[in-house]
Amino acid sequence: MSTPAYHLNATLLPEAKENVDIWVSEGRFTFSQVSGAIDLPGAFMAAGMVDGHVHLSLDFANTGLPPATSELVLHNAKRHLRSGVTVVRDAGFVQQLNLTDVHLPDLPEILLSGWIHVPEGRFFPGIDISKATSPEQLLARFKEVAAHGCKWFKIIADFPGTDMNLFAAPITYPVEIIREVVKAAHAVGVRVLAHSTGGDVGAIIETGVDSIEHGMSITPNHVRRMAELGTQWCPTIATAEGFLLAAEEKGMPSEIRATYSARTTESLKLAMELGVDVLAGSDELAHGTIDLEIDAMVRHGMTVQQAIASATTIGRRALALPGVEEGAPADLIVWDEDPRDDLSRLTRPSIVLGRGVPLNLSIVDVVPGTVLSARERHGDQSLNRMLADETCVFADGKGHKHG
Ligand SMILES: [Zn+2]
Repeated sequence: MSTPAYHLNATLLPEAKENVDIWVSEGRFTFSQVSGAIDLPGAFMAAGMVDGHVHLSLDFANTGLPPATSELVLHNAKRHLRSGVTVVRDAGFVQQLNLTDVHLPDLPEILLSGWIHVPEGRFFPGIDISKATSPEQLLARFKEVAAHGCKWFKIIADFPGTDMNLFAAPITYPVEIIREVVKAAHAVGVRVLAHSTGGDVGAIIETGVDSIEHGMSITPNHVRRMAELGTQWCPTIATAEGFLLAAEEKGMPSEIRATYSARTTESLKLAMELGVDVLAGSDELAHGTIDLEIDAMVRHGMTVQQAIASATTIGRRALALPGVEEGAPADLIVWDEDPRDDLSRLTRPSIVLGRGVPLNLSIVDVVPGTVLSARERHGDQSLNRMLADETCVFADGKGHKHG
């Protein structure tokens, strides 16, 4: 069945040279005129956004839908789609739902990494998206996830000890084991995501993992090595800031967040210079609010163009997806007003085309949920509960007794 053809004439972000004419025919982009195409309105457009780090099975938009159900997953996915995100990479999914990448109309493309692997007791308690995996089990677990067809594999490569110091999180798996898993993954076309917040991130980068998730301790020296090795970085800055703000409320000195911000700014600037692929990931922000992460990137030294690229051109390249190019599946978002003047417009597109089909943007109006600030949201999170119970030692090496 043939679908209608469409035509747009608008400024293509992020580069934004002069206006471009684009046609969509049979669900694909073409730069050659298609007769009879329907003119779509809009002044600005971009390739459908990519959110590089989400958790669809967790209720970060506070919808109240039952956790770990396909109902919640689909709802969250639609929330992303409505915000102009046409591809999400899930960086840790609930174990009991069937695992297979999802390519359905009226949903973004969902790329799954399966559940998170972490040694017993080295992750947030009570979160159903991780699977306790000893170092000896890691390779076998990789094979299990790969057999489900996942093209990504997620490990927690470091995690705080009882002091809950994110910046001094010890490595969870021996680096030789991580290296072995990376080798096995690459041999079958799977890529490895490594969660890291601690100062030993350099050793994790050296294992050859494909992406550092969070990377709260990444310095310019690490960035140089990432550029050499082709390591991607999904800094999830807004989520990290949320954790640090919550910790401040428990007594952590604010200089720690300032130090993190300064280091991240310096590192991101160098990453841009050296061509490291930096992806926008909303992580624990409410589903469908990637604009908040893009805004955080701009506050940390990236230009507006670079930050938008991280969710469009760069993000797509990093996930091996085509952008706005001849013959590519037409994933496109359109705005009436320039989102560069107000980044919150990014997630309020006027039109979303998913693989060439205009999508109904009202599909998730039934469960509005709430968008809480990071500080509000983290008020009830497990890390915070742990912080309340612990004497916390942060990056300044001083203990802070709470509660
Ligand atoms: Zn995450």
